Amino acid sequence: MLAPGSTIGILGGGQLGRMLALAAARLGLKSHIFCPPGDNPGSHVCDSITLAEYDDAAARARFAAAVDVATYEFENVPVDCVAEIAARVAVRPGVEALRISQDRLTEKNFLAGLGIVTAPFASVDDAAALTQAVARIGLPAILKTRRLGYDGRGQSMLRTVLDVPGAWERVGASPSILEGFVDFEREISVIAARGIDGSIASYDPPENLHKDGILAISRVPAQIPDAIAREAAALTSRILTEMDYTGVIGVEFFVLKDGRLAVNEFAPRVHNSGHWTLDACAISQFEQHIRAICGWPLGDTARHSNAEMQNLISADVMQWSALAVEPGLCLHLYGKDAPRPGRKMGHVTRLFDKSGTLVR
Ligand code: AMP
Repeated sequence: MLAPGSTIGILGGGQLGRMLALAAARLGLKSHIFCPPGDNPGSHVCDSITLAEYDDAAARARFAAAVDVATYEFENVPVDCVAEIAARVAVRPGVEALRISQDRLTEKNFLAGLGIVTAPFASVDDAAALTQAVARIGLPAILKTRRLGYDGRGQSMLRTVLDVPGAWERVGASPSILEGFVDFEREISVIAARGIDGSIASYDPPENLHKDGILAISRVPAQIPDAIAREAAALTSRILTEMDYTGVIGVEFFVLKDGRLAVNEFAPRVHNSGHWTLDACAISQFEQHIRAICGWPLGDTARHSNAEMQNLISADVMQWSALAVEPGLCLHLYGKDAPRPGRKMGHVTRLFDKSGTLVR
């Protein structure tokens, strides 16, 4: 177990790194963020920072020497960079989880190998392969780049055959997958942690509403039978155990109209749909991740209130002064400089008691 006073290295300087650093500080741990120059809200609240490109070998070596354990706060940190750091200091979760989740095709094949249902998918490596994939998967479908897509980026919706010409170019002519469009009833996610000893603890799954491919709202509890919540937690446990994972994971599920579950994707990190745990649980997903990677016992995932988390995307953040006077509202602002379109600038959480009355 890493004692208080130890230093956690965090690859990535975004809001997730910021909230991890704040959680580490609450436990008396220090944090050291490694990120390329730019608007890095995580760097405002950490003890030390290495400002360098991920391919800067000297910076990586300095970072690895300065920390007691390392983690990553976004899944697009280059695998080579993480592998090199992992040769010098423990990186949790490991390189394997990153490798799988960075590539939608690898991820889908991994899930299929576990017998876990996903959207039907086909690999697309050029425009001709897209035509074949459409014939196999059918329409509507979504063309998604295998790598570096998030929050709906690198995706093209194909509703009819008229949308097929040009779609390959629209996703940047890069290796992609075609996913059948899932006519889901709702979307939920499981935020769960696996400790160094293999123990697993899950929060109750929130129900998630997206707008333009970006998470807008997470509500807990989700309007689903207990059996579906248990099944989602069990599938998440299998994914965690298979990867011999340490830390928090976010697994996104489609609840199909017949009640079956399909995994959309997973993120090997704390997850936006778990932000409500900051205010509705004694131990948030951020503290849970810090506990797990430091070898501490996992904390209690019980929820003392129901909750609704709403992202403040782009100009939404301009409402901060009105939100600041709203009774009972938990306001979280990330300190980013420019509210560019689609950028997550903060979030708010409203808590409710079991009868649905706002807690204030
Ligand atoms: P992703 O970036 O893959 O997580 O997609 C963002 C959101 O787009 C998801 O949360 C869904 O709301 C929607 N979406 C993605 N893939 C599919 C699919 N195969 N079928 C239906 N909706 C999807």
